[in-house]
Amino acid sequence: MTTAKAYAATSATSPLVPWQFQRRAVGPRDVQIEIAYCGICHSDIHQARNEWGGSKYPMVPGHEIVGKVTAVGTLVKGFTAGDPVGVGCMVNSCRTCPSCQKNLEQFCEKGSAWSYNSTEMDRQTPTYGGYSSSVVVDEAFTLRISPSLDLAATAPLLCAGITTYSPLRHWKTGKGTKVGVVGLGGLGHMAVKIAAAMGAEVTMLSTSTSKEADARRLGAHHFGLTSDETTFKRLAGQFDLVINTISAPHDYNKFMGLLRVEGAMVLLGVPPAPSPIAAMALIGGRKILTGSLIGGIAETQEMLDFCAQHSIVSDIEIIPVQQVNEAYQRMLNNDVRYRFVLDMKTL
Ligand code: NAP
Ligand code: ZN
Ligand code: ZN
Repeated sequence: MTTAKAYAATSATSPLVPWQFQRRAVGPRDVQIEIAYCGICHSDIHQARNEWGGSKYPMVPGHEIVGKVTAVGTLVKGFTAGDPVGVGCMVNSCRTCPSCQKNLEQFCEKGSAWSYNSTEMDRQTPTYGGYSSSVVVDEAFTLRISPSLDLAATAPLLCAGITTYSPLRHWKTGKGTKVGVVGLGGLGHMAVKIAAAMGAEVTMLSTSTSKEADARRLGAHHFGLTSDETTFKRLAGQFDLVINTISAPHDYNKFMGLLRVEGAMVLLGVPPAPSPIAAMALIGGRKILTGSLIGGIAETQEMLDFCAQHSIVSDIEIIPVQQVNEAYQRMLNNDVRYRFVLDMKTL
């Protein structure tokens, strides 16, 4: 066992504070990682503040984890000390159910072991996330990171990257695909970069006029201001695929109108409250409203390799871990360009 230093939420309403806990000893199939950086995902805020219900405290959030391997178990084949590696939203799954067999561990029928606010597969041992100094993870849930990528800017790929890459791949994005990305935050900016790298024609749909220049720099070909009603008329019936990353409740019906016949809108954002959808928004044009949850481990590795090949990383602001509470507030104020990454050296 080793003592890990961390920042933890102790209730839904209190700020995150310094905390310590024990990481398990390195087992035969485990990789021990010294965490260098951890991205802040909006899901960290939802869970720290119990917006989805069922949060467990103390909670050490963080599932955009990168660092260097410090030790490996006797049976580990793929990693050695010093390797740059990452850990995302999952640390284990049952590995035998039909979903796990299809490399869709995020849909494990026994329930995946999430990186925090969850338990190991024994359903008893709590899991603690990446706002901490170290982590011990099974080799099968450890990701390889290319040394060519900037380590801090790679951290957000472990959630924001895979969460946008997976639906873009699933819906066969490529040359000739028209993709609308809704919400230019952590997920949205990765969706723009990845969709553009896949060859799609990308339109950024945002409430923020101030983000237009950034959207174009990130790779968007067009921009639509969603606080302007005429945008929905101008762009009606345009898109094969809409990737919706909005974190707050909003009207899905309006966005369905932007899809072409048989187009699909993929919900990635998880607003704390449900939102009604009219049958009419789907019937005319046989439209598809669907969702997507991160991606499997093999696909996460595929995404990291794709990003290395295309030199894609996240646009980040590195902050000392002590500023995590201010960062949460700034994200809620829509003041992030485009991902905060916590520097764990300061812990
Ligand atoms: P973020 O960085 O805070 O970005 C969210 C963006 O949504 C904002 O930048 C803003 O974009 C837009 N937005 C925020 N409030 C809005 C409102 N009231 N109306 C309209 N637009 C609004 O968050 P994130 O880390 O990208 O996460 C986004 C959501 O995805 C969260 O709900 C998170 O929990 C969820 N998530 C899901 C998965 C999954 O697997 N499905 C994985 C990770 C995260 P503009 O300024 O451009 O309008
Ligand atoms: Zn996340
Ligand atoms: Zn399973």
